[in-house]
Amino acid sequence: MRTEVLKFSEESAQKAAEILKNGGIVAIPTETVYGLAANALDENAVRSIFAAKGRPQDNPLIVHISEIEMMKPLVSDVPELAKKLAERFWPGPLTMIFNKTSAVPDVTSGGLSTAAVRMPKNEAARAIIEKCGFPLAAPSANTSGKPSPTAAEHVFEDMNGKIPLIIDGGECAVGVESTVICFKDGKIHILRPGGITKEMLEEFGEVEVDKAVEAAPAPDEKVISPGMKYKHYSPKAEVFIVDAHGDKFADYCRKNGGGKTLFLSCGEREGFLDYGETSEIQARRLFSLLRLSDEKGAERVFVEMPSKEGVGLAVYNRLLRAAGFKIINVEQYE
Ligand code: AMP
Ligand code: MG
Repeated sequence: MRTEVLKFSEESAQKAAEILKNGGIVAIPTETVYGLAANALDENAVRSIFAAKGRPQDNPLIVHISEIEMMKPLVSDVPELAKKLAERFWPGPLTMIFNKTSAVPDVTSGGLSTAAVRMPKNEAARAIIEKCGFPLAAPSANTSGKPSPTAAEHVFEDMNGKIPLIIDGGECAVGVESTVICFKDGKIHILRPGGITKEMLEEFGEVEVDKAVEAAPAPDEKVISPGMKYKHYSPKAEVFIVDAHGDKFADYCRKNGGGKTLFLSCGEREGFLDYGETSEIQARRLFSLLRLSDEKGAERVFVEMPSKEGVGLAVYNRLLRAAGFKIINVEQYE
């Protein structure tokens, strides 16, 4: 199959919608990362997403809507708190989990009785969902396990020959996937941190962060969000988080780097790749730098410990998984 890449326009959005209406899959930009979209209510279409990504069947997909009305037939028991959050953060990078109705096929929910719903803000994503008139399941448009795509070129690397069309909407504004939350005992429970931060959600009530966000689940542990248990976001190179900052990080890298090691620093530094001084910039750059490490044939990547505040928690969460939870404690080497 030839994969066409078209810049987002009225016509390309129309073309994408035609493919989607015929049960096909198309990669679309969103403000978080690029998504591999199909009709969320069409079992066969959803199956082709799992096939193209090589995604484990038990890892559920997020259902993307363009207006609140679209959600009504899909889920039940929506708490008042969720309605308030939708008013404040939709459209935007927040995904909420509710009990699903039979309208959402089990393949979409990975066999769970719940469904994850999000209303994206990106203009192209919204236009395409509107033209379809049905919700789109759209996991990140990468091969399962690889870093998520934040530009159309990344999608092309992974999906060339597997899908008919990529809509190019430029670089993703947020750069990491949406914040995923569920509601437990009246509290907001963060399953995956993202662009809508814990601090932002705290204005609306008590917020707890699932322990899987910062820790590796035990081999047989049951996790609420199945995506949390898989190795993720990984380039070919072995990634390490170095628990040090500034000059201390740089010294560690120079002494221990050797060979084909790349260094990602929080800010500019001679001989280092700059992944950004703020958490927002780090979120935007992280995945493309992990992809770049493959292009450069790196064997190892040392990453300066990011801040865990705000969007930083999402950056840290993705890095932990990319690194297979390997953190180097610099003090031990001194
Ligand atoms: P991705 O589509 O690649 O952004 O991944 C979607 C994330 O949302 C994964 O971590 C899933 O495990 C999580 N997710 C989707 N639906 C549900 C659900 N019904 N319950 C819990 N987690 C979910
Ligand atoms: Mg993903």
